[in-house]
Amino acid sequence: MRIAVYPGSFDPITLGHLNLIKRAARIFDKVYVCVMVNSGKKPWFTLEERMEFIQRCIERFGNVEVEYSDKLLVEYAKSRGATVIVKGLRAVTDFEMEFQMALTNSKLEPGIETVFLTASEKYTYLSSTIVREMAKYNADLSQFVPREIKDDLINKLQNRR
Ligand code: ADP
Repeated sequence: MRIAVYPGSFDPITLGHLNLIKRAARIFDKVYVCVMVNSGKKPWFTLEERMEFIQRCIERFGNVEVEYSDKLLVEYAKSRGATVIVKGLRAVTDFEMEFQMALTNSKLEPGIETVFLTASEKYTYLSSTIVREMAKYNADLSQFVPREIKDDLINKLQNRR
C-alpha cells in the first residue's frame, strides 16, 4: 500500500491545494493531508478552522484524511507508514526552498521520497496569501477557494475585525 503525506499550512486551503490533493489521491492508495503547526508562522485561521475547511473539501475522496502535526515532517510520515511526501511546484521560485527541504528530509529519513507535482496551469498563480489578501477586500473568492468553504471563510474573517 502506497501511503503519501501532503504537508502545508493551508491557511486557508485553496483550489490549487485541492487540485493537488485530487491528483495525489489518484496516484497513491492513501493520502494524509497534514496541517503543519509551524511556530514561525502566525496563521490567520486556527488549526481547527484550517482542518475543518480541509475536511469539508475532502469528503468526496475515499482515501484522503486530514490530520495535523507539530512533529518533524519525516517523523509524522513514519508514524503513518508513509513512504512519500507530496509537494506542489508552482514556479521556479518554489524550487530552491523545496529542493533544500527534500534533500534535508532524505538525509533524515532515506526511506521517504519527496515527489513533486507541477501545479495545474490554472492555479500556478494561486497561494493562500493571495486568498487572504482578496478576502480582506471582500473580493469574490469563487475562482480561488473551494465552494464548500467560500462563504464561511469570508464570514469568519469579517467577524474577526
Ligand atoms: P502556500 O505556499 O500557499 O502558503 P502551503 O504552505 O499550505 O501553501 O503549501 C502546501 C503545499 O501546497 C506546498 O507544496 C505548495 O507548493 C503547494 N501549493 C500551494 N499552492 C499551490 C497551487 N496553487 N498549486 C499547486 N500546489 C500548490
